[in-house]
Amino acid sequence: MVHPGLISLNGINKSYLQAGQRLRILSDVSLSLAPGESCALLGASGSGKSTLLNILGLLDQADEGEYRLAGHDIRQADPERLAGLRNRLIGFVFQSFNLLPRLSARENVALPLGYRGTPRREALARADRLLERVGLGQRGDHRPADLSGGQRQRVAIARALVGEPTLILADEPTGNLDAATAADIMDLLLGLNRERQVTLVMVTHDTRLAGRLERCLEMRQGVLHEGLAP
Ligand code: ADP
Ligand code: MG
Repeated sequence: MVHPGLISLNGINKSYLQAGQRLRILSDVSLSLAPGESCALLGASGSGKSTLLNILGLLDQADEGEYRLAGHDIRQADPERLAGLRNRLIGFVFQSFNLLPRLSARENVALPLGYRGTPRREALARADRLLERVGLGQRGDHRPADLSGGQRQRVAIARALVGEPTLILADEPTGNLDAATAADIMDLLLGLNRERQVTLVMVTHDTRLAGRLERCLEMRQGVLHEGLAP
């Protein structure tokens, strides 16, 4: 079999029921991504970017179309298998960080390893190594509330990477950060993309940040276009 790349989406349609009406959100979306690629996803608010990211991240399913992720046929997978693939292959980074407030930075980062049964001591040691990599080696015991926005996003990035995923999906990861901190977070994500060959898909509204990634896609009313509108 010819290896289809990391991601192969073909003819994806997705609609939601809103106030009794069926609304088409994604129209015939196709996308191929190779391992290690970096790709920005732009588009107006409500154009369907998060919906596409959630489908790529196995958090939501398309109504129609094919999706192969690392050779797995996602349409054929049951919920348990989807959860396993998600835990093993994918790291998520969100605009609002989504850290658990009662856990320390170290415990937040170790969480995905706990779900896959890694012994606690080993999970915490790996979390410490990742925190070191994102520049927070001294902050492992801090709770999220004691960290700045940029530091919280670094913790979230460490959590996304601790399981050595193949794919990082970042939904407006710099949306809550000032411009200088956003640029630092971009440097970190791109550095990790290069050194670990982890594929990166990042939603952003910032065309300058988007220009630093290898590919640029734009969602316009549920239709995915390669490159930016002139
Ligand atoms: P974006 O991330 O580009 O801002 P989204 O993908 O979040 O856009 O949303 C696209 C459209 O789909 C919006 O109109 C939104 O209201 C709608 N939508 C998203 N999720 C749901 C849902 N679970 N149920 C109903 N409508 C939804
Ligand atoms: Mg969104």
